[in-house]
Amino acid sequence: PRVPGGSILRAAVRRWGERTAFVHHDVPLTFTELGRRAHAVANWLADHGIGRGDVVAIHLPNCRQYPAVYYGVLLCGATFSPTNPLLPPAELAAQLADAGARVLVTWEQVLPVVRAALPATKVTTVVVTGPAHVADFAARLDLGAGEVDLAELLAADDTDRRLDAGVDVDADLAHLAYTGGTTGVSKGVELPHRAVVTNVLQSACWTSGSLPTVDGAGDVTLRQVGSEEEYPTRLGTATIINLTPWFHAMGAIGYLNGQVMGGTTVVIHDRFDPAAYLTDAVRHRVTGIGGAPPVFVALLQVPGIESADLSSVRGISSGAAPLPVPLIERLRRLFPNAPIGEGYGLTEVTMMATGNPSFRSGTRKPGTVGVPIFDTEISIQPLGGGAPLPPGERGEVCIRGPQVMRGYAHRPEATAEAIDADGWFHSGDVGTLDEDGYLSIVDRTKDMLLYKGYNVFPRELEEILFSLPGVAGAAVVGRPDEGAGELPVAYIVRTGDDDGAALTAESLMAAVNERVVPYKRVRDVVFVDAIPVSAAGKVLKRELAARERATAA
Ligand code: ATP
Repeated sequence: PRVPGGSILRAAVRRWGERTAFVHHDVPLTFTELGRRAHAVANWLADHGIGRGDVVAIHLPNCRQYPAVYYGVLLCGATFSPTNPLLPPAELAAQLADAGARVLVTWEQVLPVVRAALPATKVTTVVVTGPAHVADFAARLDLGAGEVDLAELLAADDTDRRLDAGVDVDADLAHLAYTGGTTGVSKGVELPHRAVVTNVLQSACWTSGSLPTVDGAGDVTLRQVGSEEEYPTRLGTATIINLTPWFHAMGAIGYLNGQVMGGTTVVIHDRFDPAAYLTDAVRHRVTGIGGAPPVFVALLQVPGIESADLSSVRGISSGAAPLPVPLIERLRRLFPNAPIGEGYGLTEVTMMATGNPSFRSGTRKPGTVGVPIFDTEISIQPLGGGAPLPPGERGEVCIRGPQVMRGYAHRPEATAEAIDADGWFHSGDVGTLDEDGYLSIVDRTKDMLLYKGYNVFPRELEEILFSLPGVAGAAVVGRPDEGAGELPVAYIVRTGDDDGAALTAESLMAAVNERVVPYKRVRDVVFVDAIPVSAAGKVLKRELAARERATAA
């Protein structure tokens, strides 16, 4: 599409008007009101000299102010750059400086951190908000020079001045997003408007059975084509609870733009409390459950989930990290009528590249991440380079499509390494394609272990561990070893029942090791209360590996 990112909001306001877009702490916000607020933010920013080419960082947890600020940034033609609101000052400063952000939108609670970070950046204006459900927070705001209350922006003129009419959808960035940094230094990913709008539409079509059209005025519309029978999560009928952070790709594209485009009512939970989630899921009669796999793991552990009335749930959607097959089976038993769609992608492809069908008649293959979404190609290439590999062979997952990033900000070498001359983005994931074109992610190249020269993929061992009774969570990392290089070590979280109590290191190793060739054997087990995961729901292997290095040293 030739339209800028803000057209997603315009389409949603036109189509969904008085429907509730967001609910936070029981306070609802309609699409119409969201539109008004977003235009007010856009107009205020434009009146203060912000527009095309300027970067506005949003340093907020998920909250009801977030969507209005986000669309305000896009509507004035500027670039949205999200930061993790829990970053310490040094990391925040590094990211803001790298992004070249001029405006930062943040909240009261982290203002001291922000103030400590700013001197090392180009930020000149800080917009501050607080918990909207706390009535007196504005009175408590003690703002310094260059700091503005968000309320001032929201009170600005809220007409649509079409400030983004001059945006060049290929040259101007809608998002400057930072990779999660699970495996290394966080890099800025440049996503032009075309990539963002395309990926929102690609993913919205995948979930809701709809087709986009763009009219002469450059406005985008989604038209329902799939039936209610076929598409349980069709347009304008869904209610979900969102936990996925909007500063992350899956959050910004799938759980902010995708839901706004599709007319979903999104109940915002700003932190994950599994019991509260379950209560709200029943109370709001949610139609879908979505997020990263740790969400499902935690939910399935909530006492009483089997007897909760979750009959409203028509679809389940997972992404960001592997969804182990045993977990899919547990979810299926609990939600026999809800298709379980699973998507795969990375920040570098805006969000999504492949998906297991989320509609009823599509063939889902558990353990795979499905087939390429519309206008996307996948090829498996040898890790060292070379011609694409045939089905069944393991190699690097490469992705080509309109959602692929332009490159990494200020990192031409890293960009040239990641995107080859033919436009293939090299993902750093190891995978295979089957004869039907379904992709399986074997593991990330960076998580692969080397035991006496043999490649061991932790994920294969984790799948087996997950299938054993008493295992609630599992992560395998390498322990440095002089003789072998690295030894596979399993970190295990026990379930709260008798099965969990009965587990021993020996019984686990015996159960896994009889199923794998000797070089893949798990050599030790560490029982832990929780496995560290990032805000986006990825196991922080780096932390576990560091622990192993420390133990070995
Ligand atoms: P960094 O690249 O800096 O370490 P990150 O891993 O958090 O950060 P993201 O773009 O958030 O960066 O994550 C992309 C990765 O997540 C993919 O490369 C892949 O390894 C993993 N991933 C995403 N979806 C799935 C899925 N459905 N199944 C398995 N792995 C997935």
